[in-house]
Amino acid sequence: MFYSQVAGQEEIKASLIKSINSNLVSHCYIFEGPKGMGKFNLALIFAQSLLCLNFHEEPCNLCNSCIKANTLNHPDLHIINEDEKSIKREDIDDLINSIYKKPYESKRKIYIIKDAHLMTVQAANTFLKTLEEPPADTVMILLTINSNLLLPTIVSRCQEVKFRNISKETIISHLKELNSDIDAIELAANYSNGNLNKAINIINGNDDILRKRDEIIKIFDKIINSDSDIIYELENYFDEQKDYIDTIIEIMIMWIRDVMFVNSNMEGFVINKDCIRLLRAHGKSIKMDSDIIEYIQNVSDNIKSNVSYRLAVDNMLLKIQEVFK
Ligand SMILES: [Zn+2]
Repeated sequence: MFYSQVAGQEEIKASLIKSINSNLVSHCYIFEGPKGMGKFNLALIFAQSLLCLNFHEEPCNLCNSCIKANTLNHPDLHIINEDEKSIKREDIDDLINSIYKKPYESKRKIYIIKDAHLMTVQAANTFLKTLEEPPADTVMILLTINSNLLLPTIVSRCQEVKFRNISKETIISHLKELNSDIDAIELAANYSNGNLNKAINIINGNDDILRKRDEIIKIFDKIINSDSDIIYELENYFDEQKDYIDTIIEIMIMWIRDVMFVNSNMEGFVINKDCIRLLRAHGKSIKMDSDIIEYIQNVSDNIKSNVSYRLAVDNMLLKIQEVFK
């Protein structure tokens, strides 16, 4: 594998490569960031780099070590919690059993622990002991969605590496390798929130955000074309969607923003380009001078600060109706 196979995260790649070239590799890293940011792939490439016999700026991909690492058959590359379910005391006991032995064939042993926050308390306490006196020939890479979920005593002994959202431009250039429909690519990039895996899933039809978007568009349609009783009919839908309300609010804001762009003859900025006719239709009824976007943004904050969910949603729908009538 090559570093270029992971999208974005250029600063992280540069600092990992530099640490190898200057012999300043840490004993333990925490790769933190949401799922789909490339943490596991970058951990694998870093591991391959550490095991490669001819590493320069990239692993050579030709040596014996690289070939074994590429197929996940390297005896000094250990992946813990591969199925991302839970990490029990016994799993850490196995790790400790091998960690104090010499590597089989390389200078180092590498341990990648997926979803490290799934360690049970006993597992975490046992693991902590290995971090207090880490063997010199070992590099551990803990992957997690949030390092606050790990024991602070573990975090303080590791080097934290925070994965950031990838720029829209970077996502678009990766998607262009998979698809030639530029409108579909831009739509997926816009709905991916800087997460390449999510963008790939959207473009391949394996993510339901566009289905949710279609539901939201239908809701706008109903609100615009019905009287206020419709608000109470929609309550069931919003009750079911309580766990996804942030996503729904984001979709609503993008939709209203697009309606406003279309109304202002700025169609070039529209995200939902595949729905341009419907955007124009909704644009006919919107009051352009409203503070609706700011209002909906506040709804998300209000729900988080424990305002009644149903009341917040009802008020939001009434506000939409007022602005679109
Ligand atoms: Zn190599």
